[in-house]
Amino acid sequence: MTKLEVVHYPEPVLRRGGKPVTAFGPELRQLAEEMLATMYSSRGVGLAAPQVGRELDLLVLNPEGSLADRTQELVLVNPRILSRKRLEFGDEGCLSFPGIYAEVERHRDIVATWQDVEGRVQEGKASGFVARIIQHEMDHLQGVLFVDRLSPADRIRVKKQLEALERRARIAT
Ligand SMILES: [Zn+2]
Repeated sequence: MTKLEVVHYPEPVLRRGGKPVTAFGPELRQLAEEMLATMYSSRGVGLAAPQVGRELDLLVLNPEGSLADRTQELVLVNPRILSRKRLEFGDEGCLSFPGIYAEVERHRDIVATWQDVEGRVQEGKASGFVARIIQHEMDHLQGVLFVDRLSPADRIRVKKQLEALERRARIAT
């Protein structure tokens, strides 16, 4: 399985987000599998297509974050949230922001609709950690990053780490 490269902040594709997926089938399935493999090897619990440089409304997740338990794996294509309830804070990190963790407010309970890799429409409820991952990854599809949602105090706290990522990107290019 090909492992994809996860792009780091401030790579512009992270701001471009995704576009609706219109082609379903084997190629999309393979991309989703490669994203899952990349997520597991990066020790993440979720990954959105823009994070691997693809401007598509596609995300993968597994709250276990481990190949040992793939029963909770989800692949969401063109996801939309139908309803949301109860805001709560929780810790988040992001594979595109190595080493940065902060509290973000998300809805605890959501109902979402999406398509699977064959294009079939699905609907389901999620709560707690899974709902949090879905909302974090759906933000990526809009070009929104978790650092956009930090409290003013956390924004100051992580400022130096963000600047370090920006410097590293400038050196790399
Ligand atoms: Zn992320």
